[in-house]
This record gives sequence, structure tokens and C-alpha cells, in this order.
Amino acid sequence: MKIHEYQAKEFFTQYGIPTADGIVCRNAMACADAYKELHSPKVVIKAQVLTGGRGKAGGVKLASGEDQVVEVASSILGMDIKGYKVDRVMVAKAVNIESEYYISLVVDRNTKSVVLIMSKEGGMDIEEVAAKTPEKIFRIPIDPFTGIPNFLAARAARLLFDNESIVKQAIPVIQKMYKLFTEKDASLVEINPMVVTKEGTLLAIDGKMNFDDNALYRQPLVESLFEPNAEEKTEQMAKSKGFSFVHLGGKIGCMVNGAGLAMSTMDTIKLYGGRPANFLDIGGSSNPNKVIEAMKLLLADTNVKVVLINIFGGITRCDDVARGLLEAFKEIETNIPVVIRLTGTNHKEGLDLLKDSAFHSASTMGQAVQKAVELSK
Ligand code: GDP
Ligand code: MN
Repeated sequence: MKIHEYQAKEFFTQYGIPTADGIVCRNAMACADAYKELHSPKVVIKAQVLTGGRGKAGGVKLASGEDQVVEVASSILGMDIKGYKVDRVMVAKAVNIESEYYISLVVDRNTKSVVLIMSKEGGMDIEEVAAKTPEKIFRIPIDPFTGIPNFLAARAARLLFDNESIVKQAIPVIQKMYKLFTEKDASLVEINPMVVTKEGTLLAIDGKMNFDDNALYRQPLVESLFEPNAEEKTEQMAKSKGFSFVHLGGKIGCMVNGAGLAMSTMDTIKLYGGRPANFLDIGGSSNPNKVIEAMKLLLADTNVKVVLINIFGGITRCDDVARGLLEAFKEIETNIPVVIRLTGTNHKEGLDLLKDSAFHSASTMGQAVQKAVELSK
């Protein structure tokens, strides 16, 4: 789960990590008021959207004077950044930046620990730094039993900063970031850039936090900040119906029984040059209601050009599944072609039942997937 920059900065403030003062606003007039309240001749106006790269997309701009604040805020509000509409901006005191650094904590699956990632080359091109000059990125794995004691924080800070006064400021900041990370069950705490100002102070200019969805049950405050996008709303709805569903963006809607079969179905679609629209495991059942609900879910995605139903009959019998499908499709109205692959217990009986239906049926996964890929084009 992601949160906005202004929300991450509220956590930073709670934990004593210094940030520039800012106020979140939903319209240009509120920005003018915020400008007066901040008592800073120059401010930065920043789009609040749940995606990165706002600066490069034109969503972060400096402004001075009330008129310019209103003008800049109006141009950013309503902007589309990578599919996210800007409905809020943050107006923050502008900072005189001397240099920009990158500091983050993230779960690292290789070291099976949290890792502290830092670079002297912070700012908007950090991805490029990581790709072209990986030696400029420091990675320090954190032992969960000892966390970040003073000596480690000091060693980390000295990798980044030469000036002892900045090192002194950075040590507690790194430790507080780690405290925040662990106490809130985060999967990412990122400050990019962490800046040293011309006045010689360390400030978090940007803030990003992601959280472990599996820990949200014990983080009600964090969970209350969840703003699902359209895809996440669909996934939530699917979950409430007992499905395991992930949106993937292709044209072939998939309905499969069993997670392993669903994974291999997606692999096979890729193998034959198609793209799955989703992962959907409907579990083991031939209940027509379940099929109806699953079809509704798939057809709600306007990208879907064909539906592929891949069923392995184990305890569930294929003839029951076929009857369930026929029953379900009496209620579903769609022009979208449906390819069905049935195999396993009673699959001959099942395929016989589907013979005179409008479904395209197949008994091997290869045949079914090739048909679906062909129909999706
Ligand atoms: P992002 O592009 O979504 O990561 O947004 P950031 O908050 O990181 O802002 C992008 C860039 O804008 C930063 O790297 C800074 O160079 C610049 N910036 C942000 N705030 C200020 C500020 O207060 N003063 C100045 N001079 N530049 C700023
Ligand atoms: Mn940033």
C-alpha cells in the first residue's frame, strides 16, 4: 500500500525527521492562503499523486508571490501524471539546496533483511545512477536483532557526508527512519532527495512510504489512508467474493481453478504471443454463481477481448463444471468469445455437454491458449 508524500511527511514529523514546512491544498485559493500562512517569499508547489517522477512530469514547481502561486497551483491541479489525476498539491517552504542525497530503507529478499540504500547522487535521476554507475549506490543490510546502533548509523552517515556537522544531524535521522520503518510495518521508507541546505541543515524534501499489505490488520491508522485506484478496487471486490485476482493489463481474460494452473496458463499465453488480462483463481468448485461472478469481474475490464476458462477436474468433475458453465451463461450476455479447456475427471462427458454451445472448447492447454491468442487479435 502506498501513501502520499504529505502523509509520509506527517509520519516523518512524528518521528522527528526534519522536513520543510508544508500545507496540503485541494484548490488554488487554498494555496494562496497556505502561501500567506507559510511566511516564505518562495514556495514549492508539488502534485500529490501515488506515483513517482512528479518533477519530470512537471508536477513540482517553484513560485513566489501570491499571483504566481495561484497560477502555478492551477496549472498543476487537474494534471494527469502517469494516469493519476492531481486533486491535491502541497505548498511547502522552498529550500535553498546545496546538494541532494538519496536515503532509503527497503526489504531486500536476497539478504533476507531490511537494507539501507544511500547515494551521494540523489535527486530525479537516481534510477539512471543505479543503472549506469551502481558503485555510487551504497547498500548496508540491517541485522533485525541489532537494528541500527549508533556506530552503524555513524558509519553510514560518513559514507555520504564529509562535513561532521551534517554527519551529526544524519545519524539520528537514519535511526529514526529505521524506527518508523519497523514500527509501521513499512516495506519502503525513501527520502529522495535528502538535502543539505545552503544554511547547512539536513532536510527531507521528498518522502515516500509503502506498507506491507499483510500487516495492515495491525496498522489501522495506516490502513485508513488507503486510496485504492480503479484496479485495486476491483481486486478488493474480488477478494471479498473469495477470489484471488490480480489485474495484469492484457486482452485475454483468464478463469482458472487452482493457483498453480493459473500461473502456468499465463506462462502458456505468453509462450504463444498473447498477454493475460489477469490472474484469477476461482478455487475448486463448479458452482454456477461463482462462474457468473468471475465472468462479471473479467468482463468489467474493457481491454478483455476473449475469455479463457482453464479447468482441471480433480475432485471437481468436468461434467459438473460444464453444466455449471452452461447454467451461468444463460444469465451472462456477452459477445466476447469464450474458450474452454476441460481436462481430468469426466472430461469427455463435459466436452460432450459443451458440443452444441457457442463456446470454443479444447482438451489441451496448448490448443485452448492458441485459440484464445488468435481470437484476442
Ligand atoms: P519527484 O520528482 O516526484 O521525486 O519529486 P521531488 O519532491 O523529489 O522533487 C523533484 C525535485 O524538485 C527535487 O529533486 C529538487 O531538485 C526540486 N525541489 C523540490 N523541492 C524544492 C525546493 O524547495 N527548492 C528547490 N530549489 N528545489 C526543490
Ligand atoms: Mn523525489
